[in-house]
Amino acid sequence: MSSDPSAPASYLDRLNPPQRAAVERLDGPLLVLAGAGTGKTRVLTTRLAHILSTRRAFPSQILAVTFTNKAAREMKERIGAMIGPVAEGVWLGTFHSLSARILRRHAELVGLRPDFTILDTDDQARLMKQLLQAEKIDDKKWPARAVLSAIERWKDRGLAPERVAADAGGELAAGRAQSLYAQYQERLRVLNACDFGDLLLHCLTLFTTRPDVLDEYHRRFRYILVDEYQDTNVAQYMWLRLLAQGSRNLCCVGDDDQSVYGWRGAEVGNILRFEKDFEDATVVRLEQNYRSTGHILACASALIAHNRERLGKTLWTAADPGEKVQLRGVWDGEEEARWAGEEIEALQRAGQSLGQVALLVRAGFQTREFEERFIELGLPYRVVGGPRFYERAEIRDALAYARLVAQDADDLAFERIVNQPRRGVGEKAMQSLHRVARARGVPLARAAAELVETDEIKGPARAGLRRFLEDVARWRAALATHHHAEVMEMALDESGYTAMWRQDRSAEAPGRLENLKEFVAALEGFDTLAGFLEHVSLVMENAEGAPGEMVSLMTLHSAKGLEFDIVFLPGWEEGLFPHPRALDEKGEAALEEERRLAHVGLTRARRRAYVSFAANRRIHNLWQSAIPSRFVEELPAEHVERVAQPGLWGGGPARRQRFDEFDQRQEWVAAPSAPRRPVRVIEARAELVPPRPAAAGGFAPGDRVFHEKFGYGIVRAADAGKLDVEFPTGRKKVMDSFLRRG
Ligand code: ATP
Ligand code: MG
Repeated sequence: MSSDPSAPASYLDRLNPPQRAAVERLDGPLLVLAGAGTGKTRVLTTRLAHILSTRRAFPSQILAVTFTNKAAREMKERIGAMIGPVAEGVWLGTFHSLSARILRRHAELVGLRPDFTILDTDDQARLMKQLLQAEKIDDKKWPARAVLSAIERWKDRGLAPERVAADAGGELAAGRAQSLYAQYQERLRVLNACDFGDLLLHCLTLFTTRPDVLDEYHRRFRYILVDEYQDTNVAQYMWLRLLAQGSRNLCCVGDDDQSVYGWRGAEVGNILRFEKDFEDATVVRLEQNYRSTGHILACASALIAHNRERLGKTLWTAADPGEKVQLRGVWDGEEEARWAGEEIEALQRAGQSLGQVALLVRAGFQTREFEERFIELGLPYRVVGGPRFYERAEIRDALAYARLVAQDADDLAFERIVNQPRRGVGEKAMQSLHRVARARGVPLARAAAELVETDEIKGPARAGLRRFLEDVARWRAALATHHHAEVMEMALDESGYTAMWRQDRSAEAPGRLENLKEFVAALEGFDTLAGFLEHVSLVMENAEGAPGEMVSLMTLHSAKGLEFDIVFLPGWEEGLFPHPRALDEKGEAALEEERRLAHVGLTRARRRAYVSFAANRRIHNLWQSAIPSRFVEELPAEHVERVAQPGLWGGGPARRQRFDEFDQRQEWVAAPSAPRRPVRVIEARAELVPPRPAAAGGFAPGDRVFHEKFGYGIVRAADAGKLDVEFPTGRKKVMDSFLRRG
């Protein structure tokens, strides 16, 4: 903290007059409602520094909410740069992290102990599944995740079970969603656990039922600051309002044109409500954009002007017009990746630092083609906010299927997927498999082939394992007659793996399904399955290391609030962006949210923005003759430079008409290069497991033996390592590695 509070603070000189007004107006509610790049985050950060440096409050009396933990760290650094190292103790973080901090201090008051655990989504699903079973509700028809997402929506709206009407869930979970919600909360309490939504919900309960506690926080938090306010949901809004009632020094900054989490319960309406709830609120509008050059800003503004549901604002920049937004039509995704790679290399040669280059996609699966191209070129990159394509959980699973189909000795692959999706192969069965495999020196898959012929493993595990082995053998045989991409698609379908994600109603599931489709698409580019697998392992190896400057790949959602010199925005095609799933569900409102996302993308760019679209795109394993996104059409001609091969970009009447027809129906066409035969039932029979080496145990009929599970018995027949043994409980088929001489 600086020492002399009366000295003119130099950090204030770095603000324009309205920004400065927003920083210095410390008392009372304040809303900064302004467009992208106008310095909202700068205002918030400076305000925090100003409060500290003028000694208006101790660090522990300030509550600052950011959208991500990363943003919180950055804010801390910036403040440090302005006024020196910030004393620890500012309550700076996301809604979730701050709520958890509050809750740990008062856990008892909401029926928890301070060491409560925060459940991940798998735990949640397991718990809900148990409840569904106890209620005898068919979890095939009403998957646990579907019930959980209804609960999440209630929590987003700040509704505890008792505030939800008994029939609020409609048909869901046979009409018992509300009751399941109540039971779920009760179970969590018993387990001393809570889920993410509870962090906020419990705080709300705490604040509303314990005025003394709320009062403590009222006295504590003299200043509250909130970034990205447009994406708060109702629960978060109530949380803020309750806490701000004390000092009333609440400062929120946001932009209604950047609200992109409506699908997760965010309410742009909170911005409008602010002025109602705090009638004496000061509203500051900032209009000068400091981030982008003229052409980029003009494109972004023209695009967002197509939205009807907006407050509307003007943005201007004192910066040069700079270069026009480059609009590029390419033949297909591969060419798009090649072009982007070359362009980035050219920029790099011209002195551009890669850390200032970002490529923003609408859907996670889109990073794959760029990643492969960048690796090939040796361009260092990182995927922000998620793993690289081949490291994603579902892709690792799919790779394990491919590896096991390619060769049955791949034990790691076997272990990864033998019970994924669930086949009843639990820990016990795995122990038996390992034991036989070790005793005989054979891979797990072969040990399994032997074990299923015996009584060593029982019931569902045995049936599940047997089916799995038959499936794998059938897929392997199919490689002889079918393209490996088809075989793997079949494997993912027939194994129930795809269905597992289809039934999963979590927010990530659709993205995972898209990634799986992209996985199959990637396979098509290779002559053999082995060739593909080798490619993946090389790609993953090359991806390691290379510290230093990297190109950032991320989704548009995770790019919110960030800025880069150079931004690539690929895949601006109907059917991809706007994303059809969003449109199907919510129509016009969703289209506007997609447009806001496009606006977020463009406004990330400081100096150069590239928008591209392909004429042919393979989505969901089908070649689609793609039409440029309607957002492309909304960019004003005078601010873009169109670059395309002849014929790809014409805008002529025919194309225009197709563009209009698109609303009625998307057109799917067969692949121009790799027509795909439909795969149906494959007749090939399971390949038999090759003969094993002679049994090591050397048991013969008549021998007396002891089996851990079945006790003493007499060998009646011996076929290599597989024996028929008469036990007191009856005759069983067992493996010699489970026996000793009795
Ligand atoms: P977004 O809506 O994308 O979150 P924002 O409104 O939060 O944007 P900032 O990130 O705070 O905007 O600022 C955008 C850029 O403009 C930053 O690089 C910031 O340093 C710069 N900037 C902001 N205000 C000024 C100013 N008064 N003078 C010079 N540069 C400024
Ligand atoms: Mg910001």
